[in-house]
Amino acid sequence: TESLTVIELSKKIGREPAEIIKKLFLLGVMSTINQVLDKDAIELICADYGVEVEEEIKIDITDLDVFFESAEGNPEDSEERPPVVTIMGHVDHGKTTLLDSIRNTKVTAGEAGGITQHIGAYQVVVENGKKITFLDTPGHAAFTTMRARGAKVTDVTILVVAADDGVMPQTVEAINHAKAAEVPIIVAVNKMDKPSANPDKVMQELTEHGLVSEAWGGETIFVPISALTGDGIDNLLEMVLLVSEVAELKANPKRLAIGSVIEAQLDKGKGSVATLLVQDGTLRVGDPIVVGHSFGRVRAMINDLGRRVKEAGPSTPVEITGLNEVPKAGDRFVVFEDEKTARQVGESRASEAQVNQRSEKTRVTLDNLFDQM
Ligand code: GDP
Ligand code: MG
Repeated sequence: TESLTVIELSKKIGREPAEIIKKLFLLGVMSTINQVLDKDAIELICADYGVEVEEEIKIDITDLDVFFESAEGNPEDSEERPPVVTIMGHVDHGKTTLLDSIRNTKVTAGEAGGITQHIGAYQVVVENGKKITFLDTPGHAAFTTMRARGAKVTDVTILVVAADDGVMPQTVEAINHAKAAEVPIIVAVNKMDKPSANPDKVMQELTEHGLVSEAWGGETIFVPISALTGDGIDNLLEMVLLVSEVAELKANPKRLAIGSVIEAQLDKGKGSVATLLVQDGTLRVGDPIVVGHSFGRVRAMINDLGRRVKEAGPSTPVEITGLNEVPKAGDRFVVFEDEKTARQVGESRASEAQVNQRSEKTRVTLDNLFDQM
């Protein structure tokens, strides 16, 4: 065929559909997002954008990343957002104890007494009113599977190392993951309450892996803590905020939401239940949404305290229902303005996933793009 719809073309050339519709309008053509364009119209638009013949264009029209990455909204609306933190470290070094301890002592201020619900992530409010989001998906699973799917959700990693045990294989693994993802590491030297604690040994051993403590002239923040007694945890959270400030984490609460799946499962009564981390924009009940290869409308949202909420801003984890299928951890989600587009993108992604299990993207140049249409 020698035709494409506006949305297909927008994906191929990486431009907003609305922009294309406007251009067509200026050329005297009234169109909608699903308007079928003939070869002449396509060439006009391409020429107008000055799309180079050599330019590489993704032909995968079901690629959510195009929507995910398309900058939207007014940059002036961008605001500071809470950091998203992952805790990593060797087995038994105290990751779960630390997550529980932070959660129990810092349950969202003013919400004390709320029934905490396990949704795979939670948010705490630190003394100065700033928030921090923790992913509490067990082990390294969250980090590794999400990264494997191309999702980058973590802003800061807390590397837990037991002071009575030192650097172990999974400590090194965690360091490598964080480095590969270019996520800053804060070292929590745990179990300081134990008589056998030897923090100097931990510092010494980590030096060999490129993590040199500030005390020794390096740049890595080390915080001695006891996840069991709670000692040092306030200091640790302060350091997380310090590192986040340097990173200048920003998001635009006014745009349509995008983000990633933290975890998801099928519930007998509720159907597909997914915990989403909103990475940019604001997610609202009723939003038409595509999540991985599933889609629908956000039917209900529950926060980490088990309470029903109507909206969730940047860096907020929420559990949602309303999807037609169960997505996977690390899948991305994108909210669309209208349900029709969400359905169209969702359905084409679902059918593509069925037909083509290979995740390979076919890359073509504009030169042979027209031949393939
Ligand atoms: P994980 O495998 O990294 O999640 O480690 P856990 O949080 O399950 O902790 C393993 C064991 O170490 C448990 O028995 C904890 O009670 C204990 N533990 C964790 N943190 C501390 C600490 O700060 N001090 C002491 N004495 N024990 C701790
Ligand atoms: Mg654990």
